[in-house]
Amino acid sequence: MENEVTMEKITNVCKQYGFIFQGSEIYGGLANTWDYGPLGSRIKNNVKDAWRKRFIQENDNSYELDAAILMHPRVWEASGHVGGFSDPLVDCKECKTRHRADHLIEGFTSDVVPDLMSDEEMIKYIRDNNIPCPNCGKSNYTDIREFSLMFETHRGVIKDDKSVVYLRPENAQGEYVNFLNVQRTMRAKVPFGIGQIGKAFRNEITPGNFTFRTIEFEQMEHQLFCKPGTDLEIYEHYKEYAKKFFTDLGLPEDKLRYHDHDKLVFYASAACDIEYKYPFGYGELNGTHDRTDYDLSQHQEFSTKSQEYLDPETNEKYIPYVVESTVGCDRLVLALLCEAYEEEKLEDGSVREVMHLNPFVAPYKVAVLPLVKKYHTDKAKEIYKELSKHFMCSYDETGNIGKRYRRQDVIGTPFCITIDDNTLNENKITVRDRDTMEQVTLKIDELVDYISEKVIF
Ligand code: ATP
Repeated sequence: MENEVTMEKITNVCKQYGFIFQGSEIYGGLANTWDYGPLGSRIKNNVKDAWRKRFIQENDNSYELDAAILMHPRVWEASGHVGGFSDPLVDCKECKTRHRADHLIEGFTSDVVPDLMSDEEMIKYIRDNNIPCPNCGKSNYTDIREFSLMFETHRGVIKDDKSVVYLRPENAQGEYVNFLNVQRTMRAKVPFGIGQIGKAFRNEITPGNFTFRTIEFEQMEHQLFCKPGTDLEIYEHYKEYAKKFFTDLGLPEDKLRYHDHDKLVFYASAACDIEYKYPFGYGELNGTHDRTDYDLSQHQEFSTKSQEYLDPETNEKYIPYVVESTVGCDRLVLALLCEAYEEEKLEDGSVREVMHLNPFVAPYKVAVLPLVKKYHTDKAKEIYKELSKHFMCSYDETGNIGKRYRRQDVIGTPFCITIDDNTLNENKITVRDRDTMEQVTLKIDELVDYISEKVIF
């Protein structure tokens, strides 16, 4: 299809206009790393602010944390990551590409669930069914090897087993080990939540689909600590809550689906992902997990410090259950970009590239455009200066006005304001809407309220 949104198109638009660049590009790139440019980093920050608003600010009894990335190595023994956090990998013997065995099966059939299969069962299934290599189409694989996803580094001057530290593969442990610190200092009563936005690192070596699978990414995680027995209701609530967050940001309901896990890790009592239909197919955007008292119990055992909560009303002592809601910030940004991008066919037959981003997420809220550079620049700069106190603004005085509109359309700026003689003589200003291309005329002093109302989340 002519105007179909493909990953290739999105990757090119991101590179061309300054959203996202290949990591270390001038050195030929480092696989599965990406750098967010001036526009991409704005979008990412806005997405984080939106999450913060929903999951901390508007969420009763929730507190934010910013924990260290490097944690005591025992944390990762307690969590089960050391020795247990790996992917089942196979190599194609023909073209030498590497694949995840579970993904090969998932892409081939929905009749079996790889999560329920052992490594031996997976490779047997792949061979019995001649599942083709996604790269060369042949079916000739090595046996499965479990590949650890943890990045290791060393602290201090001597590199030995004792100096090993890990780059955290998830944020959650920071929230768990600070459960009592937050509870005590905030005088929080169960149920309460701890949320955190931060980088996580995983040694992903299979192909990434642009920013969908990277070795360094940001998670927005919320852990709700609750009384055992109240967890399942809270779990259902967070499934809905996360979905509403996505639809409010602009992802359509019919491109989101729940994927309930058939196989649960032994301690969990429920788990579900929300998947979005990317141009390459459905992919996980977030996870909601009922983790019972596993994490705090493990930390109690490994640290030998009590993690019990004393209920001030009933005097009961217990280890709270945890309901986790985790969102991949980069995957959400990618979904929003894929959804927003359109090559719109106009009546005159031309094509307009436009990013219909939610105004809250858009990198710039307003572009200030003097109609004729020679006459309108001073006034335009004055207005730009004033508006910049309220919003991220862009300023552009080069090229004809039509071209300037188009540039703002493709970077998602919801409003363009044009400064012309009407502005000089009557303090009036034309505001053009990105999506409808309609224009309204306002007084200069009405502008801030007009825009503020439309860019709220
Ligand atoms: P997947 O099955 O796709 O590898 P996961 O189930 O291992 O993901 P979680 O451990 O639940 O993912 O991580 C929480 C969230 O972090 C995911 O829902 C996803 O949005 C994001 N995430 C996980 N791995 C990556 C990655 N390599 N790159 C970007 N985002 C990721």
